[in-house]
Amino acid sequence: MSGNEEAYVAEAFASNFVAPLGPQLDAFEQTVSDYLGGDVHCVGLSSGSAALHLALRIAGVREGDEVWVSSMTFAGGIFPVNYLGAKPRFFDLDQDSWTVDVDILAEQLEVAAREGRLPAAIVPTDLYGQSVELDRLEDLAANFDVRLIVDSAESLGASYKGERMAGTGGDAAILSFNGNKIITTSGGGMLVTRHKAWAEEARFLATQARDAAPHYEHSTFGYNYRLSNICAAIGLGQMQVLEERVARRREISERYSEVLSRPGISFMPEPPGLRSTRWLTALKIDPAATGVSREDIRLMLLEHQIESRPLWKPMHQQPLYAGTPYYGSGVDERLFEQGLCLPSGSDMTDEQQEEVIDRVLSLLEARR
Ligand SMILES: *Cc1c(COP(=O)(O)O)cnc(C)c1O
Repeated sequence: MSGNEEAYVAEAFASNFVAPLGPQLDAFEQTVSDYLGGDVHCVGLSSGSAALHLALRIAGVREGDEVWVSSMTFAGGIFPVNYLGAKPRFFDLDQDSWTVDVDILAEQLEVAAREGRLPAAIVPTDLYGQSVELDRLEDLAANFDVRLIVDSAESLGASYKGERMAGTGGDAAILSFNGNKIITTSGGGMLVTRHKAWAEEARFLATQARDAAPHYEHSTFGYNYRLSNICAAIGLGQMQVLEERVARRREISERYSEVLSRPGISFMPEPPGLRSTRWLTALKIDPAATGVSREDIRLMLLEHQIESRPLWKPMHQQPLYAGTPYYGSGVDERLFEQGLCLPSGSDMTDEQQEEVIDRVLSLLEARR
């Protein structure tokens, strides 16, 4: 927490808006919308997964439909496909960006269009704080008339080609304010969309789909998915430090890359024009070139009570999705084998980071 959250929470308590709706939620939605550039509608929800569930449903995804997704992502960015009884198909990453390979997607859309089996939606993930190739993905979605929902849960604060913020892409994007993200409401998420009708439908579905009537009237089923006004108050305080946190995470990432880059160690690329938040610093370690595997580093750090973590395990390699179609050459599989996320928290001190660096450097030296 930055310090201002408690004042906003106190305001919510003082006004007795201790409910899932209230002035703090309205203000939080407006603040995020302004931050993202103002042309988008924001709906505060209980989680990023809830936001994706609603977005897919509003996109018209039905039982048996296909949804094409990045394979290397967090489960919360995929499970909502299952909630709707739809079927995922998994796509590899591009070597040069570590976000979804748009060439493979384009190729497969071509094939699917010929065979009359286009997906109901595409859900690419902004990985580790970096936006996907929005222009190309939006063109593809328009050309094939497929809904595009961008999973921007990890990239609030990132920008794309200078003028656009991550979180404004596609028909809708989702954000997460879970405790591990760059800013948090303790738990929470948001649906961001340029379609006013989508935002209205999201608000309707997220509050148990109550039709206009004095009694409770339902013509469809809904969910209890709104963000609580108290959590939104925390979000108001957090938005004030977002830019600071992005700057700090980028600084941490630059420091790692400055001292650890060498043959056999490469950091997540930042393609020209893209500004990543470096939510987590992700790097790839080739044991053949360095004599050290990512597990050697992870376990060594753990011995010193320093937590690091492998990159997301690709969904097509998860037991749950065995046999699910996957398109790619295994860029994501190799990243999972050799990839590591180093400690990246905005509140990590310089001393703490230097300790991580010193320990990794000693291991590399010892094995050289
Ligand atoms: C965190 C995250 C989500 C889910 O958000 P929750 O708020 O935890 O439900 C979805 N996708 C990605 C890529 C994430 O990192």
